[in-house]
Amino acid sequence: MASLTVLLRHSGKWNDEGNYINFSIEGILIKEYASFNDLVVLISNQLGIDLSSKTIKIQYKVEGNCTPMEIHNDMGYRVYVELKKENREFGMYPLCITTIEKDLISGGSLNQGDIVQIDEGVQRYDSDTDDTLALDFVNSGEAIGVFELHKDLIISKTNQKEVMAGQVYKDKATLKEVMKNYAIAQKFQFRVNRSNAVSYALLCISEDCEWRFKASSINKSELFKVREFNDNHTCPLKDKVYEQRQASSSLIGGMIRPKLTNHKRKYTPKDIIDDVKSDLGVDVSYILVWRAKEKAMNFLIGEPADSYKKLLGYLYTMDMTYPGSHIRMVKSPKNESIPIVVVDGSHLKSYYTGTFVSTSTLNGAGHILPLAYGIIDSENDVAWTWFFEQFKIAYGERENMCIVSDRNESIIKSVSRVYPDVPYFACIWHLWNNVYKKFKKSHAKLSEIYFSMANAYTQAEFDSLMEKVENVDIRVKEYLELAGYEN
Ligand SMILES: [Zn+2]
Repeated sequence: MASLTVLLRHSGKWNDEGNYINFSIEGILIKEYASFNDLVVLISNQLGIDLSSKTIKIQYKVEGNCTPMEIHNDMGYRVYVELKKENREFGMYPLCITTIEKDLISGGSLNQGDIVQIDEGVQRYDSDTDDTLALDFVNSGEAIGVFELHKDLIISKTNQKEVMAGQVYKDKATLKEVMKNYAIAQKFQFRVNRSNAVSYALLCISEDCEWRFKASSINKSELFKVREFNDNHTCPLKDKVYEQRQASSSLIGGMIRPKLTNHKRKYTPKDIIDDVKSDLGVDVSYILVWRAKEKAMNFLIGEPADSYKKLLGYLYTMDMTYPGSHIRMVKSPKNESIPIVVVDGSHLKSYYTGTFVSTSTLNGAGHILPLAYGIIDSENDVAWTWFFEQFKIAYGERENMCIVSDRNESIIKSVSRVYPDVPYFACIWHLWNNVYKKFKKSHAKLSEIYFSMANAYTQAEFDSLMEKVENVDIRVKEYLELAGYEN
């Protein structure tokens, strides 16, 4: 099996400019087809790192100035192998190894008041749980030294209500969210006096107010500590009618995100308005909440278009990983929708009565797009024919077009008259309503079978479901056969 020679750099550290410095070197041979775990074991053996108490972080740089890339799974390993294969020189793409104590990663052994020595070699201090510490030290090059970490005092949640001098926040982003919430709850507005990587200072929006807030990072780490906080307003602003400047859609989006992670749960803008009212005591508009939900959904699942953009990269990787796969992607020139025209009528109940008729279709995004509507005196052949004639003038006859409606005799007749070459289909929903009306007794048992049948892809699947229908009520089968379910 093919092997590649790789230069290891270890026992060094990453500096401000993103370069690994003061390192020692070693060499290893890596296999073309191996797993990420194999690589970890190989490197640890070579460097004499005890994996029971330590873990390693493997990084490399692709170009001089870019941030280092970390290999943390099999895909990362594959990518690295591909890169090395293109440039097999021993000195190219050296792997830079950082050793991390396992204790620090689990965080489990930390108790309140423990003194933690932060080793210079430690890059990250991370954990999945909310209540353990998450420190990410900026590689300032300065000795961070020893300081006390009160585990319970580091605030990592944005729903923190009390704000006090001396508090330590996980990072600046958390603190910013907390302060936004705080201002809303306290019904005032602040302005940002200073905001950068190491400090965050706020003043009341009123010029004459003595309210102030100052926080800054601890030893240039990500941790932010509240250094000064005067919470007494000397302005009358607090009593004025609150403007909703800080209740932005991003803020609400952040608040509702956890509730949207379950895709089965229905969480409507109306629910959100109620929650914001009870959590923050603020009335927000429907449109603001609608935007907030959009933002939260985009955060959770990404912009829909972005997912498609990833397809090319995915196919490329798939082709690299499984050579010889048959992969083809065809992009159609236009986002064309299949011209399925859905026709329906609804009785008008006002003074003049008559029937409101409409046609609609699905656009490329799967949304209902109204095509035409009209009012006819009643649902008879002449009226429907007139409607379809007018519709044909406006819409024409399109390739692959088909018409779907309930099994109204007049519609069927008029369609065959005006659009003789266009196929006509009974709508599964309309058909079901009729089954429901005619066979009230059996409908509960049939509902599930019926709708799986409507979605059946193969004839065999359809036939087996039809057999079940027959077992429940033979008359329903006869009825559906009469309706004609071919296609
Ligand atoms: Zn004030």
